[in-house]
Amino acid sequence: MKYIGAHVSSAEGVFNAPLRAKEIGAKAFALFIKNQRQWFAKANTPAEIAKFKENLAISGIAPEYVLPHDSYLINLGHPEAEKRKRSTAALLDEAQRAEKLGLKLLNFHPGSHLKQISEAACLDNIAAAMNEVLAKTETITLVIENTAGQGGNVGYKFEHLADLIDKTVVKERVGACIDTCHMFAAGYDIRTKIAYTQTWQEFANIVGFEYLKAMHLNDAKSEFASRVDRHHSIGLGNIGLDAFKFIMQDKRMDEIPLILETIDSALWPEEIKLLYDFIEE
Ligand SMILES: [Zn+2]
Ligand SMILES: [Zn+2]
Repeated sequence: MKYIGAHVSSAEGVFNAPLRAKEIGAKAFALFIKNQRQWFAKANTPAEIAKFKENLAISGIAPEYVLPHDSYLINLGHPEAEKRKRSTAALLDEAQRAEKLGLKLLNFHPGSHLKQISEAACLDNIAAAMNEVLAKTETITLVIENTAGQGGNVGYKFEHLADLIDKTVVKERVGACIDTCHMFAAGYDIRTKIAYTQTWQEFANIVGFEYLKAMHLNDAKSEFASRVDRHHSIGLGNIGLDAFKFIMQDKRMDEIPLILETIDSALWPEEIKLLYDFIEE
């Protein structure tokens, strides 16, 4: 079964997100569980946590299909130790918040070398930070998002994801989230059946489908292999509808959250319906 949703707003409290997901006909959703542009936020109160769980039950969405997204400030690969420490602490805080909300996954951006250190050194930093967070948490799975490779971001190659997974000590609690816009911008083609098959075979060989824990479904305003991260609504960008039809009809993407981060939230109900309709075709 496919679990499709969108990255809904947590405005006025995380507990509002499940109801917003329900409103748009989602069976999965992503959300920020902390203000994504601030380092510090007060902890969720027991009442807020209870309300989140209550609303999640009302939405009918299981915690397995909720994909919290980390703050944009976090850079686990930062060249400076002090900055890295702050980022690691912030990711740990988010992981602990997610656990308290009863959630299973935490989606994060691997990080950037800021053109000051090598990609390999940056990946080492990220793996060390992941291991620290894994050691201090109980149940959360850290889900590494592939990137478009914009700026100094690592994670644009399947090899980067595999390297991070390889270096983590608790393999049962790590995985990958593949963003279609990012993969396309990074030079992984999925527009034709042949390209789609080849790209995912490469993923299977290098990372492995056992680690595919989520996907972000975005069309791309950016060009193929441009390393530019610009999302577009499904079917309106340079990836086109076929790729999304292939995904919907691909059993390897069953039982994981499939999240729209497309640019026009007014279209989400239609986009979700369109994607579900593809399954039947
Ligand atoms: Zn992301
Ligand atoms: Zn993006």
